[in-house]
Amino acid sequence: MRTYNFSAGPAMLPSEVMERAKEEFCNYKGTGCGLMELSHRGPEFSEIVESVESDIRELMGIGDSHAVCFIQGGASMQFAMIPMNLMLPGGFAEYADTGSWSAKAAKEAKTFGEVRTVASSSDTNYDRIPVIRHWQPDPKASYCHITSNNTIAGTQYHSFPEVETPLIADMSSDIMSRVVNIDDFGLIYAGAQKNLGPSGVAVAIIRRDLAERTPDNVPTMLRYSTYIEKKSLFNTPPTFAIYMLGLVMKWLKEQGGLSAIEEVNDAKSEALYELIDRSRFYRSPVDPSSRSRMNVVFRLPSEELEAKFVADAKEKGMIGLKGHRSVGGIRASIYNAMPMKGVETLIDFMNEFERVNG
Ligand SMILES: *Cc1c(COP(=O)(O)O)cnc(C)c1O
Repeated sequence: MRTYNFSAGPAMLPSEVMERAKEEFCNYKGTGCGLMELSHRGPEFSEIVESVESDIRELMGIGDSHAVCFIQGGASMQFAMIPMNLMLPGGFAEYADTGSWSAKAAKEAKTFGEVRTVASSSDTNYDRIPVIRHWQPDPKASYCHITSNNTIAGTQYHSFPEVETPLIADMSSDIMSRVVNIDDFGLIYAGAQKNLGPSGVAVAIIRRDLAERTPDNVPTMLRYSTYIEKKSLFNTPPTFAIYMLGLVMKWLKEQGGLSAIEEVNDAKSEALYELIDRSRFYRSPVDPSSRSRMNVVFRLPSEELEAKFVADAKEKGMIGLKGHRSVGGIRASIYNAMPMKGVETLIDFMNEFERVNG
């Protein structure tokens, strides 16, 4: 029996993808070599990088205005690369404060210039997405940074702020879970290990003209233009992570693309929130206006019951349900690869747990 992994990341991968990777691991397409043994400049890997890029473009509707880059160092390195490349001289950057990840992003930016917090929900314990008020166009505003899905707090932007500065979104935990309009964004980035593939690679989708801003003193490996000009092959890229990303993109296309997966994601999260709202045993700490469709966080009447919930779920083949250590509670991460069946199994378990312990 396949374990349902509700972990926030690294997260579940589609079973079909795992099987395919297993088949190809030792002998890639009749070469007699594993893909991991082949040159990143050879025909096999070149074909992979090209098709991953074109699949991402097709799935997200990305035109020539934006470049797609594969970069190591995870989303956390993007926290630094963004201000390093995009902070205007003598300018400032706008950040929306929606919890731990946005705070980490803003902290890195402070090293490179002034950070202005344009919205924050810290007053209400990050239970919602704050509205950006009093926003003024300003030529010194380098960009506006948001975290589209807050993996720890369990909040998500249901619509995006309208600002005229280039909008930058950390989509690590909801990229390709729904349809977005790429033209609304200057830069979208995500570590792969939640919704796209294994760890080891981050995807950065950047408007080409922004990459021309980079000051001269930024090292080669930390410049977006290096990845754009060399098609992410300036040095040896994380070949395995990119290969797996490619398999996940093919899988997503087979599911019917982003609008189809969005419908499934809506159905999965709605089923869980419906149970939580109906129950007097489970409780959502998140304002209904901002609930995440990827990370469903909830509380039980006591921490003892929460610990028992996590332990009992494990017995039943459901792991990774413990909330982030900074906030406690329960968190069910239900990214693209979590099947409806997994959510239904969790719901059955929740009903039973409430019946016995409520
Ligand atoms: C997980 C996560 C990160 C960190 O990603 P790494 O690839 O581990 O650096 C950043 N932002 C968000 C929203 C995340 O969920």
